Amino acid sequence: MLDKIEGGLFGLAVGDALGGTTEFMSERKIKEQYGRINEIIGGGCWNLTPGETTDDTDMTICVLKGIIANAQNPINEIGKELLRWWESDPKDIGITVQTAFNFYQGDWFQAAEKAHDELEGKSAGNGTLMRCLPVALAYSDPKKIDEISALQSQMTHYDDLASEACVIYNRIAGRMLNGEALEPAIQAEIKPTRYALSGMRQPDCPPDGYVVHTMEWVLYWLLSTNSFEEVVIGAANMGNDSDTIAAIAGGLKGIEIGFRQIPSRFTDKLLLKDDLRTYAKLLYEMRDNPAAWNN
Ligand SMILES: [Mg+2]
Repeated sequence: MLDKIEGGLFGLAVGDALGGTTEFMSERKIKEQYGRINEIIGGGCWNLTPGETTDDTDMTICVLKGIIANAQNPINEIGKELLRWWESDPKDIGITVQTAFNFYQGDWFQAAEKAHDELEGKSAGNGTLMRCLPVALAYSDPKKIDEISALQSQMTHYDDLASEACVIYNRIAGRMLNGEALEPAIQAEIKPTRYALSGMRQPDCPPDGYVVHTMEWVLYWLLSTNSFEEVVIGAANMGNDSDTIAAIAGGLKGIEIGFRQIPSRFTDKLLLKDDLRTYAKLLYEMRDNPAAWNN
């Protein structure tokens, strides 16, 4: 279980670090400039240090720390962590998250609704899907996974599409942590939803920050490939919202194969690798142990 939890966190961070180089680029531009990205090299529009991660990993850690601080009722603590992160002036921050922070005055759900109005009803970004994985890693109770996955999304993203995606994603992660294989876990959770399983066909939508498009691409990379490398490298070389799509897909693939099977040339490179191992251990100790919950 610890190997799977570590695999989830590292899989996500590796996807983020790899795809950070190509974020907002077109597939053609990536080919011209890099040929193909196979390694974590940094650079890109954020001028990343090799191994540096972005908001995907940062906000995932915020959710994780919030849950550890108060597992029974983590929303306030997650909020505190997100504000602390925002005050650190991060390089990469999504428009919906940014707008919700601007409106926050003590009530997250109100802030999210105001952001939704300000953005003229467009609050179904992928900013909450990118950070939700610790919920499935921390809780084994499916009801708790559903509840906290949705609430952490509704704090900044008013649109139900965003929270629905988080619930589906973490249900898949939960099944895998319980020993199910990746593909049947996806099949079981996707079938009753809006998402069509395109299988080996590339989705006919751009790999952008709209959560429905993000999810389509995540599913495509997970179902059309065989190895962790193919998932994260494939997503990274598509450009657009590449860091987030690689991170979200990498998180599930990482759970499937476990930390030890993720190539060490990726994991060794991550600037946050020591922190991630510590956090994974904390989640592992908390999971299945409600006595360790503070409230
Ligand atoms: Mg990012």
